[in-house]
This record gives sequence, C-alpha cells and structure tokens, in this order.
Amino acid sequence: MLNGKDKGKTMNEYLKKVLENTKAKNIHEPEYLQAVEEVLTSIEPVIDSHPEFETNAVLERMVEPERIITFRVPWINDEGKTIVNRGYRVQFSSLIGPYKGGLRFDHSVNQSIMKFLGFEQIFKNALTGLPIGGGKGGSDFDPKGKSDREVMHFCQSFMTELQRHIGPDVDVPAGDIGVGAREVGYLFGQYKRIKNGYEGGVITGKGLSYGGSLVRTEATGYGLIYFMREMLKANGNRSLAGKTVTISGSGNVAIYACEKAQQYGANVVAMSDSSGCIYDKNGIDIALIKQIKEVERGRIKEYLNVHPEAQYIECTDENSPIWTIKTDIALPCATQNEVSMQSAQKLVENGVIAIGEGANMPCPKEVTEYFLEKGVLVGPAKAANAGGVATSAIEMSQNSMRYYMTFEEVDKELDDIMVNIFNSCQKAAEKYNLGNNYVAGANIASFSKLAEAMIAQGIV
Ligand code: NDP
Repeated sequence: MLNGKDKGKTMNEYLKKVLENTKAKNIHEPEYLQAVEEVLTSIEPVIDSHPEFETNAVLERMVEPERIITFRVPWINDEGKTIVNRGYRVQFSSLIGPYKGGLRFDHSVNQSIMKFLGFEQIFKNALTGLPIGGGKGGSDFDPKGKSDREVMHFCQSFMTELQRHIGPDVDVPAGDIGVGAREVGYLFGQYKRIKNGYEGGVITGKGLSYGGSLVRTEATGYGLIYFMREMLKANGNRSLAGKTVTISGSGNVAIYACEKAQQYGANVVAMSDSSGCIYDKNGIDIALIKQIKEVERGRIKEYLNVHPEAQYIECTDENSPIWTIKTDIALPCATQNEVSMQSAQKLVENGVIAIGEGANMPCPKEVTEYFLEKGVLVGPAKAANAGGVATSAIEMSQNSMRYYMTFEEVDKELDDIMVNIFNSCQKAAEKYNLGNNYVAGANIASFSKLAEAMIAQGIV
C-alpha cells in the first residue's frame, strides 16, 4: 500500500521473493494470501531500511504459523443424527505472549479464513501494547437455527479436543462470529470439567457471574468509536457529533459501535444482517436491535414490526445495500471483504469522509487503496477493532489477580489503549512520510515491534 510518490518504484527483492513463495505454497488460500499481501506491501519502507530482516528470515517466519491444529468434532443433533464438523486452531505466533484470538463458528470457516484471521491477530495484538501473541480458531458449525441443546453438545465436543492444546499461559481463545456469551459459557464449562481446576484465564468473554470482565461485551464496538474519535480529531479537529453513520452487521461489534456512536451524538441511520439492511432516518432504535439480536436471535427485518416507518432493503447480490445509503462515516462490522469496489465508489460518490473497520479485513486491498486515493480516512481493522482483544487481555489480568475492576476503570483503560493505538499508527505513518495512511501506519508499528522480538529470541 504505497504512497502516490512511490508508485512505479520496483518492489524490494526480498519482499518480492517472500510474497512469491508464500503464494506458491498457499495457492488455495485466497483470504490468507490477501492478508499477507496487504501487510507485506505496506511495510516495504521498513524492509528497505533493515537488511538484517532478510539475514534473519524475519518475513519467512512471520508468514508461517507456528502450528495448525485441525480436528474432528462429532456431535448428535436433536433428531438423534450424528453430525461431523471440522475444528481448527491456528497457533500463529507466541512472540510476545500466549496465542490469543477468537473462535469463529460459521458455515464459511476454512483453513484460509482461519490463517488470515490468525495472521491479522498477531499484528493487532502487538498494537495493543499488551503481552499477547496471535491465534485464531473455529469450526464450520453454524449456530444459527440450532437449539441451545445442539449448541451445547457441539461446544462440549469441540472443547473435548481443543482443551489439550490451550491453557491460560499457552493459548487463550475468545468469541468471534457465531461465538458469543452462550457458546463461551458452554466451552468453559466443558474445559473446567475435563481439567478439574478453575483456570478462569483459559478463555475470555466469560459471563460476569463466573470470571468475565465488565466492558468485554461492549469493547470492540466502543473501542472502534474511540479510535474514530481520535482519527477525526487529528484530521481537521472534527467530531462524531451530528455525523450520519451506517454500520453493517447487527452482532456484537455493530451493536456496541452503534451505542457508543449515538452517545457521542452521531445519527446512526442503518444496520444490517446477512439477509438485508434497515434504514431508519430518525436514528436506529438500538434497544430494539439488542432485543431482536441478543435476546430473540431474530432477523433484522423484524425491526419494521415496531418501526414501520423504517425501510428494509433485502440483499440481492454481492454488493451490500447498506453502502448505497448516503453517510459521512461507514463502519463495516460484519465480515471480511464485505465492501466491494462498486460499494466503495458509491460511498465516495455520496461524500463519505471516514471508514472504520470493525470487522476483520472488510475491505479488499484495492478498495482500501481507492479510499485512500480519494482522501477518505481509513481506520484499519488491526487498529480500530483491537479494543476487543485488549479488553480480553484485561480480563486475563483480572483472572490472574482474582480482583475485578469497575466498569468505569475498564472503560477508561480501553479508551487509553485506543488512544495509544491511534498515536502509534500516526507516529509510524509520519516517520515514513505516509501522511494519514493509518493502514500502513498500523502495519509498520506492529511489524517493527514483532521483528525486534523475533530477532531477540533467535531462530525458533
Ligand atoms: P456476530 O456473530 O456477533 O455478528 C456478525 C454480524 O455480521 C451478524 O449481524 C451477521 O448477520 C453479519 N454477517 C455475517 N456474515 C455476513 C455476510 N456474509 N454478509 C452480511 N452480514 C454478515 O460477530 P461479531 O460482531 O463478533 O464479529 C463481526 C466482525 O468483527 C467479524 O469480522 C469479527 O472477526 C470481527 N471482530 C470481532 C470481535 C469481537 O470482539 N467480537 C473483535 C474484533 C473483530 P447474520 O446474523 O445474518 O449472520
């Protein structure tokens, strides 16, 4: 992700070689290759000025996971039929702490998606300034439409295998798409039963009654808005107050991003799920969204039962309808590659000023480049959505201390972390004359820290 002035420059030979080898070795993993290419191309100025990275094979080691575990997950559904899913845990990097990253339960899960998420997680976790390595896991099991009993049986079977690979100082999973409080509870219960010990720090996102942290539920969404606040302030001293905001998804990240944006006086006019989006020009009724999504596990369309004046637009093709709505700030908070080039063009045409990536890799590389070229501010996922994992690390600390912080204390710490993350991205971008390209700034700041740790630890 080069600055305009660097376009046409030939790529650093070492970088080129590693990229080509990674492509050849992982030809069937498009999402993973996309994540690697995005990071590697944006850290070129750092590679140029550090020849010792090549001697120490820093990039070759950075793109090769320390370990990938795949396993069978058999369980019995409510009809008495045996179902077999596939489980994954990618233990990508333990350079700066135990592997840390969520579990995703979704029909789309495969090794490429697990590796891309694990790779991104290494950099994100480094940016938080906290001692956490990078990992990711999950299964092609989809909790949507399953009974609580089926979800519990699946989680118990999944943990029966996963438990031998994790631990509070080894690998600490958490939630992600399809893994919320219910799933984390069942997973932790089975872990505790097998281990015969209360290792609270083995998983984060736990319920408050058994070792969870206040603010963890809100953390990714709130953190995203804290990051956006800093980014807007640093660019023309603008604020969220009075801005129109659209947010894709209506899951954990989207809901709390909406709540915090509204607290800052923004007018959130649209949210979505994988079936369609709602547009409510009077401002989204977030209490209702919480009721539909967190309590009833329903579809976003049901919003119209209470607010018939709102509009529902069904998803019909690969371009999500939410990005056709005029907005100042767009927050993709659903899934990877959800903003197509066509959607990006529409957003720019409608005058968008800033994008905040709540989801992981919601914008393909060319879409991000297009936004940057058009002068749209981009808060990259690694930085902007790092509040979730940062608060997970705060949960781990509380579990170790056997002491629990107040909501205000955790929220203040989260806010401080997001300010620091933004400052790190800004400083790194400035150091390499990249202006307000925080995408490159985030990659450079985190990569520099990881490379230093890697060289210090020798060839392992
Ligand atoms: P949830 O499962 O709580 O919610 C996901 C939301 O996205 C749902 O509304 C879902 O709709 C929608 N969605 C999923 N797939 C698609 C799709 N293909 N097209 C349109 N909408 C879709 O997940 P989270 O909110 O936890 O995660 C959302 C994103 O944020 C992911 O990229 C995740 O990796 C990232 N993230 C999450 C963190 C966390 O703390 N939870 C931390 C950092 C990043 P439907 O109900 O129809 O499936």
